[in-house]
Amino acid sequence: MSSYAVRTYGDPVLRQVAKPVDDVDGALVKLVDDMVETMYEAVGAGLAAPQVGVQRRLFVYELDDGPKAIINPEIVESSGELYHDEACLSIPGLRIGIVRPETVLLKGYDLDGNELSIEADDFMGRMFQHEVDHLNGVLMVERLDDDMRKQALRILRDRAMGLDTSAMEAKLVSAGSDREV
Ligand code: ZN
Repeated sequence: MSSYAVRTYGDPVLRQVAKPVDDVDGALVKLVDDMVETMYEAVGAGLAAPQVGVQRRLFVYELDDGPKAIINPEIVESSGELYHDEACLSIPGLRIGIVRPETVLLKGYDLDGNELSIEADDFMGRMFQHEVDHLNGVLMVERLDDDMRKQALRILRDRAMGLDTSAMEAKLVSAGSDREV
């Protein structure tokens, strides 16, 4: 196994819509292994293929019961609403409170071609939505309203210039905190 560098904010690959996976072959299995290793090295809980520069619809995740991969994932139902912090491996160190549906039904396939149907809420539901967004070229800052997005982008800009952004960041977080995805 080998690991990738995680692509970060500003890399155009994060803005592109990924293509469906047609076939699970040896190269795809190796990609999944390498994505899992990359996720572990980055101490993340989830990682989508575009975050390692690969335009394919799959993501990996780990919620304390071993790494899993979901191929061609789709959110087919969602309900409720939850405001919670989110953090992205591709936007290191930025935590933002974001409103999303609380519960989702995700469909997709595992590496053996079995169809999956997983109902998820709390962190898992939020992570699934975050990863599917990555496959559609959507970053978490785009889930903010205009005012919040401006503040988040200003933090990223100021940080790049080496300015202290801690006061601005404190205004953007909600109550909870989660692992990066
Ligand atoms: Zn992310």
